[in-house]
Amino acid sequence: MQMPYKQTARTTTGVVPPTEKKKGSKLFALKTDFLKNDEDSIQKGILDHVEYTLARTKYNFDSFSAYQGSAYSVRDRLIERWNETQQYYTEQDPKRVYYLSMEYLMGRTLQNAVYNMNLKDEYHNALLEFGFELEDLYEEEKDAALGNGGLGRLAACFMDSLATLKYPAWGYGLRYNYGMFEQGIYDGYQTEVPDYWLVAGNPWEIERLDVQYTVRFYGQVVERKTSEGVRHEWEGGELVQAIAYDTPVPGYHTTNTNNIRLWSSKPHKEFDLEAFNGGNYLSAVEAKQRSENITSVLYPNDNTYSGKELRLKQQYFFVAATLCDIVRRYKKSHTDWKEFPNKVAVQLNDTHPTIGVIELFRKLLDEEGLAWDEAWSIVTKTFAYTNHTILPEALEMWPVKLIEDLLPRHMQLIYGINHRFLITVTQKWPDNIEKMRSLSIIQEGEEKKVRMAHLAIVGSHCVNGVAAMHSDLVKHKVFPDFFALFPDKFQNKTNGVTPRRWIQQANPTLSNILNRWLNTDKWVIDLELIKGIKEHMDNPQLIEEWKQMKLINKQRLADFILEHCGIKVNINALFDVHIKRIHEYKRQLLNILSVIHRYLTIKKMSPEERRNVAPRVVIFAGKAAPGYFMAKRHIKLINSVAEVINNDKEVDEHLKVVFIANYNVSVAQVIIPASDINQQISTAGTEASGTSNMKFTMNGSLIIGTLDGANVEIAEEVGQENMFIFGLRTSEIDKAREKMKAKEVVVDSRLQEVFLNIELGTFGAPEVFKPILDSLNYGDFYLTMQDFPLYLDAQEEVDNLWKRPDDWIRKSIINTASTYFFSSDRAMKEYAQQIWGIEPCEVETTDYRRY
Ligand SMILES: *Cc1c(COP(=O)(O)O)cnc(C)c1O
Repeated sequence: MQMPYKQTARTTTGVVPPTEKKKGSKLFALKTDFLKNDEDSIQKGILDHVEYTLARTKYNFDSFSAYQGSAYSVRDRLIERWNETQQYYTEQDPKRVYYLSMEYLMGRTLQNAVYNMNLKDEYHNALLEFGFELEDLYEEEKDAALGNGGLGRLAACFMDSLATLKYPAWGYGLRYNYGMFEQGIYDGYQTEVPDYWLVAGNPWEIERLDVQYTVRFYGQVVERKTSEGVRHEWEGGELVQAIAYDTPVPGYHTTNTNNIRLWSSKPHKEFDLEAFNGGNYLSAVEAKQRSENITSVLYPNDNTYSGKELRLKQQYFFVAATLCDIVRRYKKSHTDWKEFPNKVAVQLNDTHPTIGVIELFRKLLDEEGLAWDEAWSIVTKTFAYTNHTILPEALEMWPVKLIEDLLPRHMQLIYGINHRFLITVTQKWPDNIEKMRSLSIIQEGEEKKVRMAHLAIVGSHCVNGVAAMHSDLVKHKVFPDFFALFPDKFQNKTNGVTPRRWIQQANPTLSNILNRWLNTDKWVIDLELIKGIKEHMDNPQLIEEWKQMKLINKQRLADFILEHCGIKVNINALFDVHIKRIHEYKRQLLNILSVIHRYLTIKKMSPEERRNVAPRVVIFAGKAAPGYFMAKRHIKLINSVAEVINNDKEVDEHLKVVFIANYNVSVAQVIIPASDINQQISTAGTEASGTSNMKFTMNGSLIIGTLDGANVEIAEEVGQENMFIFGLRTSEIDKAREKMKAKEVVVDSRLQEVFLNIELGTFGAPEVFKPILDSLNYGDFYLTMQDFPLYLDAQEEVDNLWKRPDDWIRKSIINTASTYFFSSDRAMKEYAQQIWGIEPCEVETTDYRRY
């Protein structure tokens, strides 16, 4: 028997309908009463949660319970604001944006919440009397790591900015039971430990058992004749339930509190029937378990496509539940579908949620009964697509067979859309088979595939890259024919990061300096004000404070390194930081080869010469995808080199190499404010934007880097003279690769010496590193060898400037002062105005005590 395709979502009851607000009544008072934020009320809230939520004794509780009690008490206040905000949005009915991302790399929440809600001092004082420092309790929290790297962290920064700017926005995503794996280092090799992050509970989420949708997989399409024509019904297959979990996102010093809704998969009730009817109880339970698998684990690949069926199931599960939710919300107060794009904007964070384009189309066509052209016009006006990479190995292409099997109706619709699209292509380029072949959504060949990027471009009204150079490459190199066909679709939206987390919270010492010297703390929400610090860059008082700020942050990092790596580092040395996912294109290899060269050079020096060496601590951190052999070998090389250097007494004062395991957001918040220089050395044309480059610049760390991604725009703002720019330019890359192929590259003699030392076993068994050296000698796709001498020149400039501390600090100040453009607030305003057409919707709070 076919179960009804049930969608349930109860609407909220129990709010005070505006018409029934009777001032003076007891119920009115109760319903409009808010939690108070004085010390006593906060203390009572924390204790109540320790006793009633955690069921622990309030007479004797530990730091973790204190964290949990505080978190639940903060959550209570978040929920009040969330409810007010959502009710207000419902009343005002503004156009909303929905940000669809398979990843959110949120990091920790407690500090961000009390800062944004302006309750830091209140919680600090309340906890002091219990014997806890609020700042220590932050450390009790486990990172929420439902993302790989830059793309997931971007989504998190965008959510913060959208709430702060009071835009009516929701994020949608998946609630993986296992987030990004925890990295360990054993014998220099990466190990992966599953991250079961929910094990100690998650105070920041609200389970919404009343918001559930049914998602279908497999099955068949049945055509039924009706009076209006043929109807397509997708039937049978497997049904899975999606349950909503909400995480409130507070804006900075505003009542506006947005939402991230994550879906968790649960078995559908129908399985119960099968178990009884079929008499095979155990296999029915197994089938149930399979459905829970969908949201089990985050795929740990960064910038690489893995064509696994479960991943496609995740993608569809995600967009199916999300679009049910969006459409239900729309239908609560609207009947005219033409108005849909005036009320709803949907942003695709990369191609991962692209099947959502077809899902909305299918709903409008098959479920709502709209005509093809009308439905498609609504869809394309609603969606916009952000491209995040041009690396060919990252482009998603799902086999037609797989989609046909899993989503049979969607495959039919893709063919229909492609057919109509190819007619447009022939109108522009008549009789041009080549153009049709290259633009088609379907890639022909032995195994036919759906090109998700083509589908995203065809199905969206806007396509954007994430930095000026990247957007140019998207237009002219990756999709030139699409650009010729739809020139007005393509835009640039340079990434940004939130100054709340990446300056105010990560670097309180710098924040204090800025507050005092700028005479305002408004730079936190209006980063243009940060330019003002430049006026004081020659003031010896500021220079001294800036130096002290760096030392305080370096001491904090040195303590962290001692605790976690057992290595003592000198805080007066230059801290040289390279932290990001380990990837060949990001060229951690170039860095570690230059470190070997530095080591060999120091070894050859006389004691007098050594006294003149600028001391350095080279810090690496980053995870490699578990299946990425070469990246994992790079980690091994870094650790093997570190082992030798750190145990060599001769270079002790001059050079240390540290690999910090398990890089994540909270680790980044410790490392970035402590860095003197940061490495942004990807092969030109490979890094779409980068966002850690922006975080570092905000914290006064100087970039040593190539003209790649957003480094280009950072150089425009900061000035190249205040950075260390080197290396091949994007325009030179093709030629350089040809040169490599033609074996015309002469390997720098210093690099040859480095190779020789690796081959002779200076850093342990050479066969371990043979694959790395082979990758350079046979192809060197990322042009490490050609950039090596240029990189060494830049490093020499770094060493020279380090010997002039005041000049260094002035450049550091200029860096921080030049970061206005890289705030995610700026990015979100551009998206809102130029892509989404949405406006701020500031909540008029009924609680006048708060701000
Ligand atoms: C910002 C950030 C990234 C992105 O770093 P890139 O150097 O731009 O690749 C990755 N991981 C974490 C934890 C981050 O905070």
